[in-house]
Amino acid sequence: MIRKAARDFATNELLPGVIERDEKMKYPAEQVKKLADLGFLGMMADPRYGGGGMDTISYVIAMEEISKVDSSVSVIMSVNNSLVCWGLETYGTEEQKQKYLAPLAKGEKIGAFCLSEPEAGSDATSQRTTAVDKGDHYLLNGTKNWITSGGTAKVYLVMAQSSVELGHRGINAFIVERDWAGVSVGAKENKLGIRASDTHSVMFQDVKVPKQNRIGEEGFGFKFAMKTLSGGRIGIASQALGIAAGAYELSVEYSKQRKAFGKQISEHQAIQFKLADMATEIEAARLLCFKAAWLKDQHKDYSLASSLAKVFASEVAMRVSVEAVQLHGGYGYVKEYHVERLMRDAKITQIYEGTSEVQRIVISRSVLS
Ligand SMILES: Cc1cc2nc3c(=O)[nH]c(=O)nc-3n(C[C@H](O)[C@H](O)[C@H](O)COP(=O)(O)OP(=O)(O)OC[C@H]3O[C@@H](n4cnc5c(N)ncnc54)[C@H](O)[C@@H]3O)c2cc1C
Repeated sequence: MIRKAARDFATNELLPGVIERDEKMKYPAEQVKKLADLGFLGMMADPRYGGGGMDTISYVIAMEEISKVDSSVSVIMSVNNSLVCWGLETYGTEEQKQKYLAPLAKGEKIGAFCLSEPEAGSDATSQRTTAVDKGDHYLLNGTKNWITSGGTAKVYLVMAQSSVELGHRGINAFIVERDWAGVSVGAKENKLGIRASDTHSVMFQDVKVPKQNRIGEEGFGFKFAMKTLSGGRIGIASQALGIAAGAYELSVEYSKQRKAFGKQISEHQAIQFKLADMATEIEAARLLCFKAAWLKDQHKDYSLASSLAKVFASEVAMRVSVEAVQLHGGYGYVKEYHVERLMRDAKITQIYEGTSEVQRIVISRSVLS
């Protein structure tokens, strides 16, 4: 049922304007509103807070179907679900959940996750944004870079350094509202892929953050970010899976229509083998996503599994989408056939929420420990 609902939504609501939104970098406001109405912005959150109460496997399935068509929409969905809602639900106080999680899980508000900075990406320990303890509040100063939904979000989860001498143990996580004095947003980034999504710098200048808006104990911020990103990677892995599966489905269809040398190109063995390789890799990626999701649902350790799923699925998305363009020949190189967009969108899955190199660091640490 989840797959069908997500697929119908992607086909009926996302596909019609996806090329134009990509070209014009147009934020999918109407589509995100409908996604909220479907309950896909807080799928896994507890129904007590307005969420769908579904498991992570359902989330992977929905992410796959939506990403087959529009990853600008699925990245908004992924950040809101697995970084913002999950982080608040797992580590927030009851008061924080009532106030912030409920509107986010219902999709009445969109959330953003602010970890990266101009000088701190893969090395998230070197946060330059500061949050100085002023008694009843913290004073927040700094700039976050590349923030998904940075322009539209009403709630930001922000990591900042409160005690430099403690290194990453001095980092805190805060809930910050967009409308507070001192919060401002830079211009929308002009990107290679996921162009309709809303990526911005977010600046904080002398923003007063009440003490009750800190998430967890003093110094919990880095752990909060790492734990949250572990689950987030399942979302991005399933986005990559969807991009690959979308490119593959278009390729199968096209190969049965296009004729060359007097027969359908699907009758040439070289094309058949491309499709066979795509199908094999996609199935393996899907199973890695399901395994990570299953471990999370069973409350077992899923940090290795989510890195395995992300690094593999994102590399499959890249390989499959490049092959899909090749299989479409010249038509693959123009926008109407969708595969060039999928190829551009695939690249980001190897970069955000931990690059492929960072995933290999996580995996090799685990293998060698
Ligand atoms: C479209 C988009 C959306 C994003 N959304 C968000 C968001 O919502 N919130 C957020 O906080 N961030 C977001 N990001 C930021 C993203 O997570 C970072 O870009 C990413 O973590 C990489 O950091 P960096 O860009 O600083 O690259 P760097 O860390 O500077 O890395 C540069 C290169 O060096 C490699 N490298 C770095 N360290 C090592 C090492 N130890 N060993 C081997 N190789 C290494 C990297 O893998 C990479 O290839 C987004 C980025 C983009 C482009």
